[in-house]
Amino acid sequence: MKNNKKLKNWLDALNLNHPLVIAGPCSAETEGQVLKIAHELKDTDVSIFRAGIWKPRTRPGMFEGVGAIGLKWMEKVKSQTGLLTATEVANANHVKLAIQHNIDVLWIGARSTVSPFIVQEIADALKNTDKIVLVKNPVNPDLSLWLGGIERLYSSNIKNLGVIHRGFSTYEKTKFRNNPEWQLPIELQNKYPDLPLICDPSHICGKRDTLHTVSQTALDLNFDGLMIETHTDPDQAWSDAAQQIKPSVLTKMMSNLKMRKTTDDEIDFKNTLNTLRTQIDIIDQGLLDTLGKRMKVAIEIGDLKKKKNVAVLQTKRWNEILGKMILEGEGKGLSEEFILRMFKAIHQESINHQNKVINS
Ligand code: PEP
Ligand code: MN
Repeated sequence: MKNNKKLKNWLDALNLNHPLVIAGPCSAETEGQVLKIAHELKDTDVSIFRAGIWKPRTRPGMFEGVGAIGLKWMEKVKSQTGLLTATEVANANHVKLAIQHNIDVLWIGARSTVSPFIVQEIADALKNTDKIVLVKNPVNPDLSLWLGGIERLYSSNIKNLGVIHRGFSTYEKTKFRNNPEWQLPIELQNKYPDLPLICDPSHICGKRDTLHTVSQTALDLNFDGLMIETHTDPDQAWSDAAQQIKPSVLTKMMSNLKMRKTTDDEIDFKNTLNTLRTQIDIIDQGLLDTLGKRMKVAIEIGDLKKKKNVAVLQTKRWNEILGKMILEGEGKGLSEEFILRMFKAIHQESINHQNKVINS
């Protein structure tokens, strides 16, 4: 429990478990399915039961949610298990129905956050209510759109806000369904340190085997909670089958995650250090990816040079690059000596790769 800290937001005020765990199926399918999952999640770390009632599908012709009837099932979840309930809303009518059925937490989905019109419509429908609203990041890696969503809600006097990081779509093939791009939620956290930040590893990973790693990274980065899609028969789920896990698997995963409690200065210090180290790890990973990409381009240049029978070392161009990098490096607080050493090492590696190509 986070009860040793001064109340900073609805999360503290409700005195929910830390980290907050939101779990439940991607979609409400039948009353039986919803209640079965909810009962299995009762008496675990889970505080909030999620289920999509209206499903925004990228392509038509797939299961688009059961609609308003599912809200009655959510009310039963609440009365039978005591769990709070959460669902996605994407227009004013959804908001009206969700409020009528006492849904505790509403979230704005990634495909809605991209549209200022939709977010504004939802903000207007919620004006002056005390509903808890969570804003998922937009599908594309655009921090301004995400911030814009939060600002529109704040402007409508909706105070109980939070954000959900669910990763970003990319053209590049990665091991994730939606690339985490951790620097974006970190930036958002720096801007709004009191806004609860929740990670949705399910939509980041798109499959089960990496959920634990992504969840651990989120906790190490000081996220306040996790939202994990959970189903009693994941393979038969009507949407997002590959990424859902059974309630028992969720319980096991939660017990294997290293939790970080904030109780005193010493622990605060360690947590901050851990958060910064995790940020460094993510940046280093980015450096390696970038260097790998650079070498691939160098190899392509090697191919070209081979075809045209041109020398690998082009001294004039290399000196131009170095001069430019020294100047730009200075602006970022990097010494000339460091820039020279680093770029010489990178250049040497490129030459080695190109020589291999040319002599092959
Ligand atoms: C969901 O949570 O089921 C969902 C549709 O998520 P997103 O908006 O992140 O794609
Ligand atoms: Mn889903």
